[in-house]
Amino acid sequence: SEKLLEIKDLKKHFKMDRNNYLKAVDGISFDIYKGETFGLVGESGCGKSTAGRTILRLYEATEGSVDFGGVNIHAKKSRKDLKTFNRNMQMIFQDPYASLNPRMTVKDIIAEGIDIHGLVKTKKERTDRVNELLETVGLNKDHGNRYPHEFSGGQRQRIGIARALAVDPQFIVADEPISALDVSIQAQVVNLLKKLQDERGLTYLFIAHDLSMVKHISDRVGVMYLGNMAEVATSDDLYAEPLHPYTQALLSAIPISDPEVERSRERIIVEGDVPSPINPPSGCRFRTRCPHAMDICSKVEPEWQEYKQEHWVACHLYNDKYNDEYKAREK
Ligand code: SF4
Ligand code: MG
Repeated sequence: SEKLLEIKDLKKHFKMDRNNYLKAVDGISFDIYKGETFGLVGESGCGKSTAGRTILRLYEATEGSVDFGGVNIHAKKSRKDLKTFNRNMQMIFQDPYASLNPRMTVKDIIAEGIDIHGLVKTKKERTDRVNELLETVGLNKDHGNRYPHEFSGGQRQRIGIARALAVDPQFIVADEPISALDVSIQAQVVNLLKKLQDERGLTYLFIAHDLSMVKHISDRVGVMYLGNMAEVATSDDLYAEPLHPYTQALLSAIPISDPEVERSRERIIVEGDVPSPINPPSGCRFRTRCPHAMDICSKVEPEWQEYKQEHWVACHLYNDKYNDEYKAREK
């Protein structure tokens, strides 16, 4: 598959005070292929939203690079180049209400990007384009003259989607776009996103806090823990054969509708709280909660490796140099 984005050792640290940095994203590497949905998953505070924003360049990277179509967007750029990137990469937010200006009509909210990027020449073109977008997301042109508060949560998310689409982007980061919606509305929004992807060849980074939410929509999934990437695989591989103990635990917590399978299944309980990203554990960050932790895990940070084709993991269990202790214990 053709790469659209190549994220290399990306870091985003926030300065807390003189001596402390919050290492929200601390060295993640993965590719996003053209036309795919890449699901990014992890508990709240794991850095997934910060990762999404840094990939979009809404935050400046502390270190590392994001290549979009072969060009590092975090390297110094001309104003014109930046404008092009901004147009190609858009965001859909978790809380559509907070992200829509309450004093603007829906029409003007949707047209903002069109105006900024000078995509139309006449007022009529602008109106036509907005009406077309409203229709694309399942609203109608009368909705354009109204204000965000007049709409339901699901409709507001449709407005947010129309706004993102207005500049004809190639890549969209959707940060928990359905988490705040009623379950009955979630499927509608997901179906809309799928339809738009098929029609326009869009590429998505779909951020969610639980694996069951991204299962059906993602081609590939990445699991983050405390600013690091634990595992990346195709959805099928990840769900069928999770390698990282953290992924295994997350998956074991998802209820399965088949009672037979549910009964025979082992639930893996991860003890304790997520440690602070200001002062993360040495070695493997998951070691304070990992049921398989070995001596080496506190000393050496696990390497990010492609253990099988298209299946990446950061865990010493998959490194023959280090897993003797584990094998001995398992005997
Ligand atoms: Fe667990 Fe060690 Fe693997 Fe980390 S490296 S996930 S602590 S076994
Ligand atoms: Mg978040």
